[in-house]
Amino acid sequence: MKKVWVDEECIACGACVEVCPEVFKLEGEFAEVKEGADLANERITEAAEACPVQAIHYE
Ligand code: SF4
Repeated sequence: MKKVWVDEECIACGACVEVCPEVFKLEGEFAEVKEGADLANERITEAAEACPVQAIHYE
């Protein structure tokens, strides 16, 4: 993955953090991609699938 981001649809449910805490963190109203996170982590796609509002994107 070259880029991973969370859009404003995020409802802060925490699912992505549960699936992939190495990459995602919950801070305030939105989940975020941790600084310096390994974007090759294979659970990023799982986290995106687990997101109930499809707020996780990657390319
Ligand atoms: S799973 Fe989706 S809605 Fe839930 S905290 Fe993560 S990005 Fe936000």
